Amino acid sequence: MYDRIYNFSAGPATMPEPVLEEIRDEMMNYRGSGMCVMEMSHRSKVFQQIAREAQEDLRELMGIPDNYKILFIQGGATLQFSMIPMNLLKAGAADYIVTGSWSKKAYKEAKKFGDIRLLASSEDRNFSYIPDCSDLPVNPEADYVYICENETIHGTTFQQLPNTKGRVLVSDQSSMFLSQPCNVSDYGLIYAGVQKNVGPAGMVVVILREDLIRDDLDDKLPVYLNYKTHADSDSMYNTPNCWCIYCCGKVFRYLKNTGGLEAMHRRNQEKAKPLYDFLDQSKLFRGNVEPQFRSLMNVTFATGSKELDAETVAAAKAAGFDNLNGHKSVGGLRASIYNAMPKAGVEALVAFLEKFEAEHR
Ligand SMILES: *Cc1c(COP(=O)(O)O)cnc(C)c1O
Repeated sequence: MYDRIYNFSAGPATMPEPVLEEIRDEMMNYRGSGMCVMEMSHRSKVFQQIAREAQEDLRELMGIPDNYKILFIQGGATLQFSMIPMNLLKAGAADYIVTGSWSKKAYKEAKKFGDIRLLASSEDRNFSYIPDCSDLPVNPEADYVYICENETIHGTTFQQLPNTKGRVLVSDQSSMFLSQPCNVSDYGLIYAGVQKNVGPAGMVVVILREDLIRDDLDDKLPVYLNYKTHADSDSMYNTPNCWCIYCCGKVFRYLKNTGGLEAMHRRNQEKAKPLYDFLDQSKLFRGNVEPQFRSLMNVTFATGSKELDAETVAAAKAAGFDNLNGHKSVGGLRASIYNAMPKAGVEALVAFLEKFEAEHR
């Protein structure tokens, strides 16, 4: 009825249709309140309940222990590149593992704030793999070790968390958040810009171990950039992104009702497989990433010819598969197949690519 297409955008990205339908149904009058959630005071009882339930559902979904705070902060994932060093550098040092554009950006930003070392990098082979992080020379003084767990642009994922040798682990999970079970207590801080795998743009979820929240920064940091501000006020220090909290809450509930993160992970594995299987046997397209580090969320591939890549993207768009172009920094193609992409969308894409290949061999 709505003529929707398969949208392979890396972000903002496709959302579950049942969630969009629910939002549609509540648009003009949210559950008898007589108004849309967009029109509500963030201090109203009705919105307070929306925000509380969103938090509770996320806590249950991920099994977030009680000694972790859930924060909803604006400024996207990018602001966390700054907030993390501003808040977590105590001794003044941190180690960064750079596996792609996003961790590289975070590393560059952190350098403004302390003794930031490059612990490992996969830039030597165009970020097509994840380095062995089982025995790295971690700085014993490091306040934290930083990773981007799924590199959205390059299409790599950590299969195993790094051995941080007792240092706090900080992870950017933006493009894999809620795509699989996560043992939160392995981390000091997890954050995710929600527009990749959860909801609309404009917010980041930060899951932060309470002992990392500091009392000695009130006079040192801009108030909005202090995690304590958000933790003490339950993310309501100022007007939060109410709409985004509402939409994300819907997705948390939806994931809970469809079997939780283990079921989601299984569906994601089953969904990515036909596309990777196709790439492995294709004579025209090649996956960019070494097989054992492949992302279930962002599948990057190329023909080896810029012209043919562009032709594929254009033909795919005409056939109803949008946003398949790779990030401008790497070219080629990228199919982002987040939680909300149905398996049928990937199967239809594979059928399209098979046909395209047959016609271009
Ligand atoms: C998109 C993305 C970001 C940046 O997100 P913004 O919300 O645009 O700031 C950071 N890290 C990863 C892994 C991303 O995919």
